[in-house]
Amino acid sequence: MFSKVRGFLGFAFAALAVLAVGIGPVQAQKDKPDFQVIMLGVGTPVPFMHRFGPATLVIAGDKYLLFDAGRGVTQRLWQDKIPLGRVDVLFLTHLHSDHVVGIPDLLLTGWLTSPFGKRKGNFVVRGPEGTESMMEHMVKAFAADIDIRVKDQNFSRVGVTPDALDIVPGPVYSEGGIKVTAIDVNHGEKIKPTVGYRIDYKGRSVVISGDTKYLPALAKAAEGVDLFIHSIAGAKKELLESNQSWKNIIAHHTEPEDVGRIFAAAKPKMGALYHLVTLTNGKIKPPSLGDLMTRLKTTYNGAVTMGADRTRFIIGKAGVTVIAPPK
Ligand SMILES: [Zn+2]
Ligand SMILES: [Zn+2]
Repeated sequence: MFSKVRGFLGFAFAALAVLAVGIGPVQAQKDKPDFQVIMLGVGTPVPFMHRFGPATLVIAGDKYLLFDAGRGVTQRLWQDKIPLGRVDVLFLTHLHSDHVVGIPDLLLTGWLTSPFGKRKGNFVVRGPEGTESMMEHMVKAFAADIDIRVKDQNFSRVGVTPDALDIVPGPVYSEGGIKVTAIDVNHGEKIKPTVGYRIDYKGRSVVISGDTKYLPALAKAAEGVDLFIHSIAGAKKELLESNQSWKNIIAHHTEPEDVGRIFAAAKPKMGALYHLVTLTNGKIKPPSLGDLMTRLKTTYNGAVTMGADRTRFIIGKAGVTVIAPPK
């Protein structure tokens, strides 16, 4: 009996394999998504293992565009077997450390000639005022490593040389049919400039909010987009009433009901949440992600995805497909 079952299974697998070979290449070509988004990190400064710093990869046509480079961005890229040097452009929303601490790793490790590195051209970075200066200093900070590898391994400096530009809100990139527009957002009076980004490709679009307070103007910029990724923040009432400093943190971000209001006004095909701020002082527990979603749903009844590291979105002509992170 056992061998009979095994025999049958063997036959079934062989038949499947033939079938897969038969339809493989053509099918794969047809189904290959030309526009997708991978959340590489949906975290904040909290050094969690399961939630790395903010980083969102947009793959449109043959371009790999990365939005922010928080902690762990290199691990998440390579987890999906994407060489670090494959990233064409890094766009920054603002220079808060949780959004940029992954840059040195991406810059230097992506320069290595191993399969996980392989950067061919310069390290291209676009971000708000201060980006050029930060990149100039970063290369100086790591001059010892760079000089050693040039001498010892005969590396070219090209792949570790930044091509950095300070940008202002408006169009910032146009190549291969992809348009990227920086959107002025409001992360607080003393945290300027901060931008979000809109990516347009073949009549489809994605908006990434960056860190922002409740900003009705952002709904306008994201009106009718396919995928609208928004940051979110919440804390229990007891915590907010315990100390003004917690209220100040929340005041730099958007609370769930307000994210719902923005989604309701923008009407994206799919709303998604990242940069998940859930405050706690250790004694008063943080709100759960379910709590945030319940609050958001009081003001929005459209489709919305709670992001996790490695959530993937396929932006198709017929709509957005959400692929949960691999187990
Ligand atoms: Zn942040
Ligand atoms: Zn911030």
